[in-house]
Amino acid sequence: MALIHNLGFPRIGAGRELKFAQEAFWKGRSSAAELLARAQEIRAANWQAQQALDWVPLGDFSLYDQVLDMSFTLGNLPARVEQLEGSELDQYFRVARGRSANDSGCSAIHAGEMTKWFDTNYHYIVPELSADTSFTLNAERLLSQLAEAQEMAVKAKPVIIGPVTYLWLSKAKDGSNRLDLLPKLLPVYLELLDALAQAGVEWLQIDEPALVTELDRDWKRAFETAYRRLASSRVKLMVATYFGTLEDNLLLACNLPCDGLHVDAVRGRQELNVVLDWLPVDKVLSVGAIDGRNIWKTDLNSTLEWLEPIAKKLAERLWIAPSCSLLHVPVDLAIEQNLDEEIRPWLAFAKQKLSELAILGKAINEGRAAVADELAANQADITSRKHSERVHNTQVKAAVTNISANMGQRQSPYAQRIIKQDAHLKLPLYPTTTIGSFPQTAEIRQFRLRRNKGELSEQKYQEYIRDEIAFCIKQQEALGLDVLVHGEAERNDMVEYFGEQLEGYVFSQFGWVQSYGSRCVKPPILFGDISRPKAITVEWTNYAQSLTNKPLKGMLTGPVTMLNWSFVRDDQPRSESCLQLALAIRQEVLDLEASGIQIIQIDEAALREGLPLRQSEWQSYLDWAVESFRICANAVCDETQIHSHMCYSEFNDIIKAIAHMDADVITIETSRSDMELLKVFDEYEYPNDIGPGVYDIHSPNIPSAEQAVALINQAAQAIPAERLWVNPDCGLKTRQWEEVIPALQNMVSAAKTLRENA
Ligand code: GLN
Ligand code: ZN
Repeated sequence: MALIHNLGFPRIGAGRELKFAQEAFWKGRSSAAELLARAQEIRAANWQAQQALDWVPLGDFSLYDQVLDMSFTLGNLPARVEQLEGSELDQYFRVARGRSANDSGCSAIHAGEMTKWFDTNYHYIVPELSADTSFTLNAERLLSQLAEAQEMAVKAKPVIIGPVTYLWLSKAKDGSNRLDLLPKLLPVYLELLDALAQAGVEWLQIDEPALVTELDRDWKRAFETAYRRLASSRVKLMVATYFGTLEDNLLLACNLPCDGLHVDAVRGRQELNVVLDWLPVDKVLSVGAIDGRNIWKTDLNSTLEWLEPIAKKLAERLWIAPSCSLLHVPVDLAIEQNLDEEIRPWLAFAKQKLSELAILGKAINEGRAAVADELAANQADITSRKHSERVHNTQVKAAVTNISANMGQRQSPYAQRIIKQDAHLKLPLYPTTTIGSFPQTAEIRQFRLRRNKGELSEQKYQEYIRDEIAFCIKQQEALGLDVLVHGEAERNDMVEYFGEQLEGYVFSQFGWVQSYGSRCVKPPILFGDISRPKAITVEWTNYAQSLTNKPLKGMLTGPVTMLNWSFVRDDQPRSESCLQLALAIRQEVLDLEASGIQIIQIDEAALREGLPLRQSEWQSYLDWAVESFRICANAVCDETQIHSHMCYSEFNDIIKAIAHMDADVITIETSRSDMELLKVFDEYEYPNDIGPGVYDIHSPNIPSAEQAVALINQAAQAIPAERLWVNPDCGLKTRQWEEVIPALQNMVSAAKTLRENA
């Protein structure tokens, strides 16, 4: 008998119930008891949805973040929070969100740092360590959830983050070696395992996804040390790896002294046979056969082709599961009301993936005949997707095949282009600009909502947007900015707006995925060959340009960002989809240029975050990502100035790739890091223009002109003044006009001061 189990279920609730409960609590509109009651309801509903499984995950639910939960379980809180009064829940959210200074004299507490969970779009709170960190067990969260589950007769398998991955995810604030803490950490894990055993736990899922990354000798040894120690516990351990292949950690993973190993058979199919060869004969193998990172229906018949021989070999030692926690996919396809009816049957969200799992389990245990109808229905949907004309567009495929080497190449090198651009743009030294969006006010969103609901005519909506654009231009002229933007009032989101106007994309209504805390994103679904039926931004951009004599910067989202912030096809390489996007946006670039727009910005906010987990794969990603950008951007003539924007400042690993993009100007996020990070541009002798952000748009604070002058002067030590621009860190859409106006006034006056002193 093979067993079926799940590694984790989305915690936000199908209607984002958790988000609303969290936010009501934070705003003081509901009590802690109410928040906890909602949380319990979501857990109960999730367990209900997973009833058919042999093992149901427990402890995967979180009020904010599973890594923060683990820090609490291990008694590892930052000292700045630990000394404060208040309940454990207050403390928890203080680490998660910080606390601002208040009237009663309490000083501000900064939140824990947040960073991406492996290569996903989920962000966790980084545990803070130092050489003298100590750990103490707080098993209350897990034990009380266990009691809850036992009451509901749920066959629960608690999930925790393993000790080595916990350290791997942490940051040593004093620069000490995190691994030195392992001897202090293991006794607390053992204590936890004992407490769980005591409470009746049979299997524990212990997540060690660090095993799919490149580990040096010390980290590998830490795994051996840790699991040799934990092997003494009475609980059976299922060590879970996911998000990739084990490669040179494969032997280590197979031989850890534990009772089971979970591997990601979606990304690591090619490794499965080697795992089977090395897995000790007494160990359970959990095969992650259903993609937990994407929204496509699984091809069950072809999965069974490779899974059945494994089942034969392993018999009751086989467990079947999704590749990773389902945290990374939306909850339920069934609640979608407006989804394209041809495309809906090709999709599976978390609940649908559980049904697929059940079918696989039954097919393995009772034979395919036992689920013949389900398999036939699945086959029909898979075939329909494979052959759909909505997916395959021969013209688009031909265009990608015909991409030639010179398509990504500008006419002349930067040094020659910039002379031509200067001659007609006539910008001053230290030109000022913004990153694209101006405040997306509640009123703008209200108008869009009413248009979408049909309460407002398209014409009325368009008129409203025109007025917004005119207002925005007026403000920028009054501020004295040098390069203006139209302000992006018409855009709900930088990816969704373009996706909606490209063939090959669909949008869900409720397909939310947690990004961090209460923040959720709704990634568009890139399902087919991408084409652009008609121009997208040309009209708005020209309208804006008609209102000013200053150059107006056209604003587009780049192909790599479109790709990295979408659910993408699994029937062709990511690079192929990216090139298709590049060709579609390239047409938009050329149309903008032909219409007289002289500056075009192509945002690549998500280029860096697409880097694969393993460094050995970085180069090939960067090759096609940068090539896609080049193809999209570089068809313009020398006189047209291409800008790109990136929401980060860590360029150390990618500076060569960024230089190869060959944008005339890049604007980046640097204001918080004191321009330290420009060093890498200096060292690399990066040749083109740079606009290092001088205004931190993530904070409501209004930077002074002096601050901006100081930052630019600092930047000028690394980059020659002639190549520096003055701009904010990122778009202004989340800010208020009352903040934006004085902040930009100061920014513009800083540029004036700099020019006077030049
Ligand atoms: N042009 C976009 C804006 O200003 C860029 C956003 C981003 O980089 N995330 O909103
Ligand atoms: Zn940005």
